[in-house]
Amino acid sequence: MKRVRGRLPTARPPILLTAAVVLMSAACKPAGDGVIALEGATLIDGSGSEPVKDAVILVKDGHIQAVARVNEIPVPRGAREISLIGKTVIPGLVDAHAHVERWALERYVAWGVTTVRDLGATTTDSAIALKNDCNLGAVLGPRLFTSGAMIDGVPPTYPTATGVAEPSAARKAVDQRAVVGTDLLKIYTKITPSLLKPLMDEASTLRLPVAAHLGKTDAVTAARAGVASLEHMAGVVQAAVRDPAPYIQAHDQFLPGWTLEEAGWASLDSGSVQRVARAVAATRTAVVPTLVLHEMLARLDNPTLLLRPGMEDVPARAGSVRDVAGLLKRTRWRAADLQAFRRARARQDQFVREFKRAGGLIAAGSDAANQLLVPGLSLHEEVALLVAAGLSPVEAITAATRKGAQLLHADSLGLLEAGKVADLVVLDGDPVTAIAATRRIAWVMIRGRIIQPDSLRKTWAN
Ligand SMILES: [Zn+2]
Repeated sequence: MKRVRGRLPTARPPILLTAAVVLMSAACKPAGDGVIALEGATLIDGSGSEPVKDAVILVKDGHIQAVARVNEIPVPRGAREISLIGKTVIPGLVDAHAHVERWALERYVAWGVTTVRDLGATTTDSAIALKNDCNLGAVLGPRLFTSGAMIDGVPPTYPTATGVAEPSAARKAVDQRAVVGTDLLKIYTKITPSLLKPLMDEASTLRLPVAAHLGKTDAVTAARAGVASLEHMAGVVQAAVRDPAPYIQAHDQFLPGWTLEEAGWASLDSGSVQRVARAVAATRTAVVPTLVLHEMLARLDNPTLLLRPGMEDVPARAGSVRDVAGLLKRTRWRAADLQAFRRARARQDQFVREFKRAGGLIAAGSDAANQLLVPGLSLHEEVALLVAAGLSPVEAITAATRKGAQLLHADSLGLLEAGKVADLVVLDGDPVTAIAATRRIAWVMIRGRIIQPDSLRKTWAN
């Protein structure tokens, strides 16, 4: 290098000199400059394979450069080395079903949720604004994929949704979302099979995946029509019972439909649950069970849930999570309804088991920030409920990482291997021994940047 400098005539134009200096300083930097080396942790990489002990993960420029066992590859000189002996590393979590509110963005990150599939809370424009703010780094938040406002029948259940009454309106609603750039579509309970057809046709032309929470269309019909996912396992009861007419009719109105369907799970027999699980799995439609939503609905009369650890992350003004009394008032659910919801839980768990056995794709989603569902925390609760339903801890973590990424067609997410993005969570415990250890978060890396949840929480004091 000295020889090169010596040969440079002093009279050369300054631009060449500058170029030479830049080249030289680059050449003088150690190979590990800008590299973070995470050494010694047990790695659960998101692929579904068994944990690997003594892992080393090299991160550079927001991406994973290499993954190996300690001593299998050299840690480049100059790298920032972080010892993670005794800890577990998992990919950044993917919440496959959420309704993102702005206050919740940092909560997701603090809980290790680095990607969220937003299924419509407000208007399409504000959802896209939120997504842009996160993805451009204007605010700290997860990577967002959004459906924009939901598409529903008429009258729409929520005033923010687009209500469609006939095929051309359905196609128009799909087009509008494609034009403004939503990542997917969310269709809602009042969409009938005759509206579903033009919707799916237009969505397929525009290559927009469809997330379905339907009431007037059963799960097998929706899956065969090509929806990407069944949210909350909606429509399974309609597909499993001999006479779905009362359920289909009840869904003329959102609340009676919801109440009847939720309680209806308890009446199903194991053979019909198995039949529907196999029929849906055969179509390759994914299921986002949101067991945590079903669990919370069954326990709305338990006042201690509003005080459980993690609720302190929810601001007092966040009525969506805290207003259990308001929900009970609106729904007029009584003790008997909640008891029926509790009896339904075993059948819902059975569906998850049968669907897994049939080879179906299960992605973990929370439905936060609805009642009692804390953004971030509720995904960890979902992971634990998936284990209780019969998934292994590694399968449940995969449902909350790689499977969620697959649902988003986001190949660089949810997996810790060379070339993928550096979104990961460092855990103080071992989730394979006790799944609740996914909540014992030491720190989080998002886009290659290290975030300390405790420091982040201190900024939420007001
Ligand atoms: Zn939802």
